[in-house]
Amino acid sequence: MRRVQTVPKVAVANRYQPPQQESPAAAYCLRYRSKRHSELPHIVKFSGGRSSGMLLFALLENRLLDPDRGDVIVFNNTAAEHPGTYRFARDCKAASSRYGVPFFWVEFQTYEDSRGGEWTRLPSYRLVNDQPRSEANPEGFHWRGEVFEELLSWSGYVPNQFSRICTKRMKLEVTRMFLKDWLACTETIPRLGHYGSESRMNLKSMYRRHRRSQGAVPEEIFFRKRAYALSRPYIRPEQLYRDFSSVWRPFQNPALEGRVFGNQASFGTGGVEYVAFVGLRGDEQVRVHRVAARNAGPGASGYSGEHVYMPLADMGITRNDVNAFWDQQSWDLSLPKQGSLSNCVYCFLKGAANLRSVRDTMEKEKHSEEPDFGSLLDTPSDVAWWTRIEQTYGRDLKAEGRPITGNPASTVIGFFGTKTDFSYERLAQAADSDFDCYSAALLPCDCTE
Ligand code: SF4
Repeated sequence: MRRVQTVPKVAVANRYQPPQQESPAAAYCLRYRSKRHSELPHIVKFSGGRSSGMLLFALLENRLLDPDRGDVIVFNNTAAEHPGTYRFARDCKAASSRYGVPFFWVEFQTYEDSRGGEWTRLPSYRLVNDQPRSEANPEGFHWRGEVFEELLSWSGYVPNQFSRICTKRMKLEVTRMFLKDWLACTETIPRLGHYGSESRMNLKSMYRRHRRSQGAVPEEIFFRKRAYALSRPYIRPEQLYRDFSSVWRPFQNPALEGRVFGNQASFGTGGVEYVAFVGLRGDEQVRVHRVAARNAGPGASGYSGEHVYMPLADMGITRNDVNAFWDQQSWDLSLPKQGSLSNCVYCFLKGAANLRSVRDTMEKEKHSEEPDFGSLLDTPSDVAWWTRIEQTYGRDLKAEGRPITGNPASTVIGFFGTKTDFSYERLAQAADSDFDCYSAALLPCDCTE
């Protein structure tokens, strides 16, 4: 069993403390913003990085998580992380099990159902275990990009800085769907989808629906984009929590009573509330402010009932502090400390300098066999995977007959938008000097759960 050495006393105030004049030292305590919050289920959004790992163990070591309150740790798998991230997430899950708090890995998936008399695919999620998926382990996690590609095939376009559907669909909304089930205090998540022995989707009728809703994608491109999603499982089986977390046990929280209908918790007026812990640091102020604004109260764009806490940011913990914490441990994330390989390996928001460094590292690494995983070729650890994905699911404005308003040389809306002609194909081939002209157009990574 992994052990955690010195954990900062980041959260020793496990009771509501009324607002008072803050001394610098007082900033080192977690203070609930409302007395009620200490009674709500606490959800730890674990990203797979060092910062959220440090936050997790700070909460566990300071006994701030309580399985009987419904507290839970959630890791959203995009299937596009580096194998080192999966190993670290697995180690964190194993180490946290001795504190008795359930830890689940969840993945986006779609399933077939009828709406308005027509068959369609709807978004959902599944629980997976912490070993790579294989024939012998069909409930293992995906890591060859399957989850990411299913989302893009289902949506028909790729995310970009203005439309971050990957974060929204694979992380934020998956966690929210999971909590709808989890906070209902049942033993399983239910089966979803029809009982037919084969897919009931019909591409022709899907295309007619696309045209009825003013879509202009040519039929051949439309079919090509949707093919992958239609090849994916069309049901979500019933799954038992205990099969995915060895420390799961039933819980009952009075704060949830009267807020669950059927077997699902309700959100919104009179619905469930919970405390969400996010591992953003003090040196990530842009992300901190975005999350704070998202959850700033009635009318904010965030999720109703979610009360976000960011203890590392509140304490001014920086990347150096996080690295110093992990230096004291006998185990760690096996990826560079500046974070260039964290999150989806080639995330389009990593910025020019980081993407170049990822490419230089991974183009060598992808040729080796990864223990427990296998070859990394044509997986998200290989820029060729991102190139194929961008070329398959990018929006071809010319083919759709849409006006070209950005860079005239850029007629496809890929991951980097139309203002720049940068693409994963260019990234694969770019000389070092080429990156200078892209650095202003490419943003640093700020994937925010
Ligand atoms: S890390 Fe990047 S590519 Fe992955 S979900 Fe977040 S924004 Fe999207």
